[in-house]
Parts: sequence; structure tokens; C-alpha cells
Amino acid sequence: MINELQPTEFDCAVIGGGPAGSTVAALVAASGMRTLLIERDRMPRFHVGESLMPETYWIFKRLGVMDQLRKSTFVHKVGVQFVGPSGRQFQPFHFKQHDPRECSQTWHVDRDVFDKMLFDNAVAKGATGLDDTRVLDVALRKEGSHELRVQHSNSREDLMTARVVVDATGQQAFLANRLNLKIDNPKLHKAAIWGYFRGAQRNSSDDAELTTILHTEEKRCWFWYIPLRDDRMSVGLVGDHQDLLRGNGPIEAVFEDQRKRCPGLLSRLEQSQLIGKLQVAKDFSYTTKQHAGDGWVLVGDAFGFIDPVYSSGVFLALKSAELAADSIIAGLRQGDTRAEVLGRWTAEYNAGVLLFRKMVDAFYTNEFSFAEFIKEHPEHQRNLTDLLIGRAFATGADQIFQDLDPALERSLR
Ligand SMILES: Cc1cc2nc3c(=O)[nH]c(=O)nc-3n(C[C@H](O)[C@H](O)[C@H](O)COP(=O)(O)OP(=O)(O)OC[C@H]3O[C@@H](n4cnc5c(N)ncnc54)[C@H](O)[C@@H]3O)c2cc1C
Repeated sequence: MINELQPTEFDCAVIGGGPAGSTVAALVAASGMRTLLIERDRMPRFHVGESLMPETYWIFKRLGVMDQLRKSTFVHKVGVQFVGPSGRQFQPFHFKQHDPRECSQTWHVDRDVFDKMLFDNAVAKGATGLDDTRVLDVALRKEGSHELRVQHSNSREDLMTARVVVDATGQQAFLANRLNLKIDNPKLHKAAIWGYFRGAQRNSSDDAELTTILHTEEKRCWFWYIPLRDDRMSVGLVGDHQDLLRGNGPIEAVFEDQRKRCPGLLSRLEQSQLIGKLQVAKDFSYTTKQHAGDGWVLVGDAFGFIDPVYSSGVFLALKSAELAADSIIAGLRQGDTRAEVLGRWTAEYNAGVLLFRKMVDAFYTNEFSFAEFIKEHPEHQRNLTDLLIGRAFATGADQIFQDLDPALERSLR
């Protein structure tokens, strides 16, 4: 039956219309390549992950969406604050005090609206955008174009072909799962329970807000506290999968129990009400052992995901997408879409990701304290703030680790 369908030919087919997929599709389409962007859900669709990193700025500029963002009513993100297990508030990292340029500030976004803006932008740049359309199967061919079998919302199936296939399916990791490429991170078997609250305490009365990260007692878990527009607060609990989801009863009871164990959160949520239901995500941290093959490449969460603590997910989705797009465009122009060409950005990318990964390891090492470390090494304060902004790909971004790596090792002895 499928063979009777007329294939539709593209240079590049992107599976997944999240931030990564829409970014690849926009850039590849803008270069004049026939580009397909396929999203399973109807846009706009809900997604967790509202706190951006300022370093997204340069990619937004390249995508041409800065004006839309400036005019948006998303809450500005001006910095990050950590709150200790006793409720002690550490000095916030105010990004603009560190660097007054516009690129040091960003937003807390409603992901449905934000992701749709990027999806529409890809279409405006010339991509064929199909939402409510699922990729059912991909046949990777040794010669010529790959074949994608897609299903529309009315159940009709179509066959499409593309010289390059991009897996941007997020945690679904469509190709990575089929090709058995995922590597689990045993140190990060985490789960998250989150919801949206009305009436939660804000940091200030205007729209310039911090993302707050609050530890629970004994640092067993932590909460994110992300201010959104219309008096909504995204509040999420993160802890070991084993502790949060195995045999501890309903997620509402687990969330409530941990909320009581988080002195920093008590007053912040005192007057608040949960909107709707709590939600769960688990085992979201992994990497992949191969990131590109002949005519295919992974980007965003399909490539890998570290942990939500520093809000690096969307930035890394955009960064990997931008780097992959440049390789795809060059490969298509040269008529060479082998793995070496499509994946040539991945070593540089992984070097930057490693810095976030080390910061995550430090955060989860209970014996280690960033506050103590910076007291001992005030010269690294700037480097640390730069990393929280997302500047992991700049020259010298790794300087802090000359002292942080040994300090971390000492704390474990
Ligand atoms: C608990 C938690 C909290 C987080 N908090 C933050 C945060 O505060 N800040 C931040 O920056 N990041 C955060 N993240 C990470 C962030 O949400 C992701 O990194 C980001 O969404 C990745 O973008 P993406 O485009 O790779 O994937 P996604 O945004 O997941 O998009 C993938 C898309 O692919 C589609 N798809 C899947 N399968 C198919 C198919 N077969 N056919 C067609 N389409 C398909 C899906 O419907 C989806 O829309 C968080 C993650 C978690 C788990």
C-alpha cells in the first residue's frame, strides 16, 4: 500500500518540531534547500522547560526572531539564585551586573507559544511544516535518499524521501533508539514532579525575575522556581528516581512531603494554589554513542540531555541545531552527506557540553559547595557566571575547572 504512494522529495527532513528541529529547519530552508519539518503534535503543544539561558541570544538573532521576543510578554530572566537546604539565600548571579549587554538577559517562556514561534519561523524561512503528523518509520538507504513513512492526523500515510534526515524528536530519540545509540548516565537516574502555581511569591513587582534553585533538607532533592507571565509559577521537584517514584505513594504526596522539607520554598508557596495536575518525567539524562551517520544526524535532546538544574536544555538544543545545520548545508552543497561531514561539529559541541556536565556533577556532590569554592577562588566568579549564562563554547570557558576539578575530588575524599 505504501509503495503505491508517490514519494515527496526533500533535501533535508527534520523529525520533531521542538526548538532543535525548528532551528535546523529554518537555517537549512533559508539556504535554499528543500526542507521538511514534521511534528507529531498539533502546534502549539505543551512542553516543560521554561527558563532559557541568555546565550540563546546569538541563535535567536541568526534566526531573526529577536524582535518577536523583545515584543513578547514573556517574563525577563535577569539571573539565577541558589537557596541552600536551611533556606539561606545565596547572593544571586545577576547577569547584567556581570555584563551589561542585551545578550546577558533572556526570558522565562511559555513553551507552547515559544516553540510555535520557532516552528512558524521555520515555515516563514521556506520549510514545509507539517504538524499533527507523525513519522512512523525511517528506512536508511546506503545509496541515494532515505525514506520516511509519515502518518497524518486523518490516518493517511505518505512516503517522503530526503538526502539528510535529522532526528530532533527530543526524549523520544526516534533514530537514536532504533539504532540503539543511547547511553544511560548511571549517576543521573533522576525524576521530576512539577506543576504550575498561581499566587506564588515573586522576587520583585516588575517583570524582571530570577530563576531560583532551592535545595531540600540534607540536599536530597531540589526544586526549580520559574516565574511565568499571568501570575503563574513553574515549580518542579527533582530527585533520585528511586526515592521519588518507587513505593512512595502518589506523586502529590511525594511533592507535598518534599515541599515541607524545603525551607526556602515554604513561604514562597504559602499563598499559592496548584493549577491543574502535577506531572512527571523520569530518566531524562543520557547521551548517545554516535551522533551522525551517512545522511543522518541527531540534535537537541535526541543527541543527549544532561539535567535540568542549570536550564541548559533549550540552549543546547539550539546550539546543536545551529552547528548541525551548517554541516548539512555544506554537505548538501558539496554533494557529500557522509557521517564525517554531517557530524564534524560534534567534537567541539561535546567539549562545551562537558563543562555543563561537570557543573552538574559538582551540584550533585553534597560534600561540595560552590559558595565555599568561590570564597576560596574569587577569581573564578566571572567564569562561573559566564557558564550560567551559557558561555561554554567560548575560549577560556574551562579555566574554572583547573581549580574546580581538584576541589571536587578533595571533597569526595
Ligand atoms: C524536568 C525537566 C525540566 C526542564 N527544564 C528546562 C528549563 O528550565 N530550561 C531549559 O532550557 N530546558 C529545560 N529542560 C530541557 C528542555 O525541555 C529540552 O532540552 C528541550 O525541549 C529540547 O528541545 P528539542 O527540540 O530537542 O526536543 P523537544 O522540545 O522535546 O521537541 C521534540 C519534538 O519531537 C516531536 N516528536 C517526537 N517523536 C516524533 C515523531 N515520531 N514524529 C514527529 N514528531 C515527533 C515531539 O512531539 C516534540 O514536539 C527540562 C527538561 C526536563 C526533563
